[in-house]
Amino acid sequence: MTKLSRRGILAAGAAGSVATIAASAQAAATFGNPDMPPQGAPNAANPQSLTDPGPQNPELAKNLPSFLNPPPTDVGDMPMFWNSFNIAAKRIQNGGWARQVTQSDFQISTTISGVNMRLAPGGIREMHWHQQAEWAVMTVGACRVTVLDEKGRAAVQDVKAGDLWYFPAGLPHSLQGLGPDGAEFVLAFDNGMSSEYNTLLVTDWLAHTPPEVLAKNFGVPVDAFKNIPLQDRWIFQGEVPGPLAADQAAVKAGSGEPPFPFTFALSDMKPNQISAGGQVQIADSTNFKVSTTVAAALVTVKPGGLRALHWHPNADEWQYYIKGEARMTVFNTGPAAQTADFRAGDVGYVRKSLGHYVENTGQTDLVFMEVFKADRYEEVSLADWLSHTPPAMVAATLNLDPAVIAQFPKTAVAVMPA
Ligand code: MN
Ligand code: MN
Repeated sequence: MTKLSRRGILAAGAAGSVATIAASAQAAATFGNPDMPPQGAPNAANPQSLTDPGPQNPELAKNLPSFLNPPPTDVGDMPMFWNSFNIAAKRIQNGGWARQVTQSDFQISTTISGVNMRLAPGGIREMHWHQQAEWAVMTVGACRVTVLDEKGRAAVQDVKAGDLWYFPAGLPHSLQGLGPDGAEFVLAFDNGMSSEYNTLLVTDWLAHTPPEVLAKNFGVPVDAFKNIPLQDRWIFQGEVPGPLAADQAAVKAGSGEPPFPFTFALSDMKPNQISAGGQVQIADSTNFKVSTTVAAALVTVKPGGLRALHWHPNADEWQYYIKGEARMTVFNTGPAAQTADFRAGDVGYVRKSLGHYVENTGQTDLVFMEVFKADRYEEVSLADWLSHTPPAMVAATLNLDPAVIAQFPKTAVAVMPA
């Protein structure tokens, strides 16, 4: 017998004893701790399995307790679905700043790229356009938005916290913070690779066009352009604009006004559903007509409430957390179930048709946006499904008493109370 083969036999013996331990723990799968093979803290009979003596960053860890101590029902793995503007570097200029979470930083986020931007009072996001559609929700202050459509019809509108805007792909636009507090908002591009740092800027184009061409194009002398900026401005400080009506009058075109507004007062609209647990307000192309590639829901969950178990059959969900504290679990084949914690400024992502639910884990209302690259908001509710399948089928599948099934909500309730 060689040394090598002796070592092989010893290793096989050690593996065998580990397998014996694993088999006995597997037999302990119970309601609330179903994992096979055994996974999760309840299976860790040796207390040393639960200690974490290595280097740590406690400030980061305390915000993400479900990564540190996953619920016993979590199992398997899935791509990272947590990210945050709070850990994104700011690009600061006089007039405001921006930071972003694109697919470069958040691999799972293929359909949406997110940008968080601040404009001081008078601060201007330079006139520009891009190849993607731009959707936004205002979170602070007020902002003046301008846009020109493909028929040469112009719109100028002021938006406040809780309002949305949507600019179809390729339509040129600008943004300016208003008094007294300026504006802060979150943009969602309908393409995960889009970057706010890489847009088509009017200053760049003019600076890189021969002066004679500019003169001919606009029908004025070459000298008229001698002071144009030679580098782009992107964000810069301007004067707070005058009355909205004056700007609207100034942009009037012979081709008339766009048929549908590019802005939408989402937080002012009558909720689509109000329950004891909270409410849901939905803006998609059925009520926010121009928003043909982005659908969104503003969800409010009261303390202890639950955004009920559901999925979206038509699109991935990109989430932006505005207020409060949350815990979301995502379910996939495998099985896989994984839980993450979210706070204001954080971003979540759930792939199309994967089951999920969101708990309010804080003491105040939880408010977050669900954003989809889709023309319509669509949702399938688990409770709705189980209460609209023949009860004998549900009872046989889940070992449930038909009397219990009869108590399930008969219409889909988006947010259940504590
Ligand atoms: Mn833009
Ligand atoms: Mn959802």
